[in-house]
Amino acid sequence: MISQRRVIRRIKNLSQQLSREYQGCNVLIIGVLKGSFIFMADLIRGMSIPVECGFIQASSYDRGTKSSGRVRISGLERLTIRGREILVVEDIIDTGLTMKEIVRNLKRRGARRVKICALLDKPARRKTDIHPDYLGFTVPDRFLVGFGLDWDEKYRELPFVGYIK
Ligand code: 5GP
Repeated sequence: MISQRRVIRRIKNLSQQLSREYQGCNVLIIGVLKGSFIFMADLIRGMSIPVECGFIQASSYDRGTKSSGRVRISGLERLTIRGREILVVEDIIDTGLTMKEIVRNLKRRGARRVKICALLDKPARRKTDIHPDYLGFTVPDRFLVGFGLDWDEKYRELPFVGYIK
């Protein structure tokens, strides 16, 4: 669906934009595992400001290709959130339920400001008012793999974004 060249080029632009916007901010960039790790690695390598990184894990209770709507988040307790400028990095926003829960938790822990950076946005299935502040690509309602996104733990390594037929 999206070639390696297009993904890399878009991420470079995002890195530059984020470097400008977070200049002098001591930003904490939180990647949502596992799907965001490849995007996040490329994103921060392209940045020209110092950043701090952390990771959390979010999983829905069901496996398979549809989000269940119930979200479990772990790893927040290892991070210092209070008073921080935070950028959450996610592979894809689908219903938005995962991100809504993450943002709610970060604010409850005293984050000063929380913004969202997603590689992909699938607005067709949105069930919340969540939208990314920084976005790579808007995508149609297909099940996508590659560039960190899996299908039952497979295909994360693909250097492009594809879809399962
Ligand atoms: P949401 O809570 O927004 O519905 O879903 C967020 C999570 O569902 C993503 O972080 C991702 O793990 C998974 N997800 C949603 N759509 C897709 C997709 O098209 N492909 C893959 N591999 N995961 C998806």
